[in-house]
Amino acid sequence: MLVLALPFGQSWADGKLKLQKVTEDVYAIVGELGNRTPENLGNNATFGFVVTPEGIVLIDSGGTYQGAQNIDMLIKSITDKPVVTVINTGGQDHRWLGNGYFKEQGAEIIASEKAVIDQKSRSQDQFIMLGNLVGKEIVKNTDAVYADKTFAEQFEFETGGTIFEIRHSGQAHTPGDSFVWLPQKRVMFTGDIVYVERMLGVGAQSNSKSWISVFQTMAAYEPRHLIPGHGKATNLSQAKTDTYDYLLFLRKSVADFIENGGDITNIGSVNQSKYNYLINYETISGRNAQQVFTEIEWE
Ligand SMILES: [Zn+2]
Repeated sequence: MLVLALPFGQSWADGKLKLQKVTEDVYAIVGELGNRTPENLGNNATFGFVVTPEGIVLIDSGGTYQGAQNIDMLIKSITDKPVVTVINTGGQDHRWLGNGYFKEQGAEIIASEKAVIDQKSRSQDQFIMLGNLVGKEIVKNTDAVYADKTFAEQFEFETGGTIFEIRHSGQAHTPGDSFVWLPQKRVMFTGDIVYVERMLGVGAQSNSKSWISVFQTMAAYEPRHLIPGHGKATNLSQAKTDTYDYLLFLRKSVADFIENGGDITNIGSVNQSKYNYLINYETISGRNAQQVFTEIEWE
């Protein structure tokens, strides 16, 4: 009865993370949809892991050392096998700043070359931001630890009979974003290429035009299960509605605004209310329009 009472088979853990079983041996770890806070330890994103007889493959290591410990605690509630591999799907803080913890546990870390370049160029800013939002006390054991193994566009490996294909097909939310495909299970981990339930962020490190084509490349795999970078595990249809359709809408709206002689000072007049059902709409929509305006002007 207790299991039935929990939506999506989730269970709560400390640090605001929820465990969601996706399919046999595949789990999503779903963090809060808002910003980084002392309570969520910087884990304001979705992570995932795959259980194999040879150990655990973890997709994204969390936003801080303590956040990584919290992720590991959830994994330990399912299996006592160690995390043997960590994949960083991008350069944003919550994709990689937990690397130090898992490296200490003996895990090998894999990321795209572009993700590592991005991490190196932004780590200082990320630590300052985390110090402000999460607090220096919580951030203190966190170090910038980079991948042991990098790849340009594609990397494939097998652990305990499960095949993992990692693919970087261009800039999306960050320059080095990758998705992780499990062909035998038709499972896709998208990292920050897909946001559901909350509004995605187009920042200075993003490229909305290329993001659209990266999404198309990912979607062509026709995943049966999709673990997004933000939000609960879902299907391709919701990913398309909340991420792809929004990106198309945003770019079209801003392009029309420019076409009609719109000036950046009036960018707030671009109407995005169609997407006000997404969490963080109030704080992020205006900034997204502003960033896309700048992008389009340079195209
Ligand atoms: Zn993110």
